[in-house]
Amino acid sequence: MANEKSNTGNGSHGIPTPKTLTTTAGRPVADNQNSVTAGPRGPVLIQDFQLIEKMAHFNRERIPERVVHAKGSGAHGHFVVTQDITRYTSAKLFSSVGKSTEMLARFSTVGGEKGSADTERDPRGFALKFYTEEGNWDMVGNNTPVFFIRDPLKFGDFIHTQKRDPQTNMKSPTMMWDFWSLSPESLHQVTILFSDRGIPDGYRHMNGYSSHTFSLTNAQGELFYVKWHFKTKQGIQNLAADVATRLKGEDADYSQRDLFGCIQDGTFPKWRACIQVMPEADAAHYKVNPFDLTKIWSHKDYPLIEVGEMTLDRNPENYFAEIEQAAFSPVNIVPGMGYSPDKMLQGRLLSYPDAHRYRVGTNYESLPVNQPKATEVHTYHRDGTMRFDSNGGSAPNYEPNSFGGPKQNAQYREVPVQLSGQPGDRYDHREGNDDYTQAGDLFRLIGKEAQQRLINNIVGSMKGIPEHIQRLQISHFYKADPNYGMGVGAGLGIEVGEALVAGD
Ligand code: NDP
Repeated sequence: MANEKSNTGNGSHGIPTPKTLTTTAGRPVADNQNSVTAGPRGPVLIQDFQLIEKMAHFNRERIPERVVHAKGSGAHGHFVVTQDITRYTSAKLFSSVGKSTEMLARFSTVGGEKGSADTERDPRGFALKFYTEEGNWDMVGNNTPVFFIRDPLKFGDFIHTQKRDPQTNMKSPTMMWDFWSLSPESLHQVTILFSDRGIPDGYRHMNGYSSHTFSLTNAQGELFYVKWHFKTKQGIQNLAADVATRLKGEDADYSQRDLFGCIQDGTFPKWRACIQVMPEADAAHYKVNPFDLTKIWSHKDYPLIEVGEMTLDRNPENYFAEIEQAAFSPVNIVPGMGYSPDKMLQGRLLSYPDAHRYRVGTNYESLPVNQPKATEVHTYHRDGTMRFDSNGGSAPNYEPNSFGGPKQNAQYREVPVQLSGQPGDRYDHREGNDDYTQAGDLFRLIGKEAQQRLINNIVGSMKGIPEHIQRLQISHFYKADPNYGMGVGAGLGIEVGEALVAGD
């Protein structure tokens, strides 16, 4: 893409010699200052097409912002393999140590609108697109290894609580805590959100996680379940709550400024990519359901295995074209990878492409930023809004055909999906599920001072919400760790007795 600003042309002081301005149809424009009017006082004439085109195009500049992850920043970079993982996957992007693949990253907050502040307490989106020779692989994760819910049926409900109250049009801690207190599976993620890591210091100082379990398959057809971890090489750094609040006013684009500025200055952020690998047979016996998005796999059980390093080294030339229109989807995997039974992942496989078709348009994958760069696309899709390429030209638009159109290739057969064989039903995902131990593990891990900051952050947020919600939520904290529940109770002036702990 041409960089207009750095195109020195023949002008003086490095400023390019201006080209003649045209309409979108290429007609040279003689006057871009004065509308065509009937006499100097007007009115304007409808035949001033340039005026009408400018106003009409301006009216249509916005596309719908993402319903979640609307505020984001991104950059281009490279992923280089540092360790051999061909025993787990046949994906060509990992075929040899030293292999480099072009990629794109977009980071974001979740709940805020496109103009919201970067330093909100909120999970951060961590979306990566790898332009591999076997198609694009999108790793669409967060900066947290778990999530608030484990059934996609609750996603819309949950996100409504993070947005604005239908009447007051303001954010509502009551909505948030009401939902969380009635959805104890959220406790682990709530604990991360209100801990120090709930407000990362920009996008460079946080880890990224697939959060979901995915799978890898090797050349022998063996399947391994995996979780992806991208560990920041800049070190974890977070913002204290009061600093973040100040920055919301002083520099709402704090994370955008930081990412763009450091890449512009040649300080390229890097992440170490690792996997946790679970052999397929382990999945049935692991101590937690490995497909439950509210649970981590302990590092002690499945240690991190290094895979590679990702470096962001190029800012976008144009934010809208390269970041706003970028469309990441967990659907996009490559041969040698697979999905998993994770219910939330299955939900996202449906909802992400659906959101992009609505937000960007039917042919969103054909936009330059979304197109594969290292392989060609051969489909029988035709037409649709804004079809700007050759649309398949005169080639057949149906399959099978006897005119040399693209054909399937059995070499890329996926490893069969193992299904449970149990009846299709609505199974209670809370029945017998321990929502407390891992949240408690984290509480116990972070140390006394961080525990107190976590408690203070929670108390600050829960102050002023109805007491019945406070009491129920405190009972969850208590079940994770008595000190956790008693700390929040003390901060809210609520005595933590037996009835409260029982959730009555
Ligand atoms: P480990 O002691 O092996 O791992 C603990 C991990 O916790 C660290 O490796 C680090 O993950 C993460 N961590 C450290 N400090 C903090 C903090 N202040 N806030 C949030 N996370 C932190 O134990 P387990 O693997 O058994 O996990 C124990 C708990 O740690 C879990 O319940 C979970 O809440 C949390 N955790 C676990 C992760 C995992 O994938 N196992 C990942 C992140 C958190 P990292 O190196 O990824 O930063």
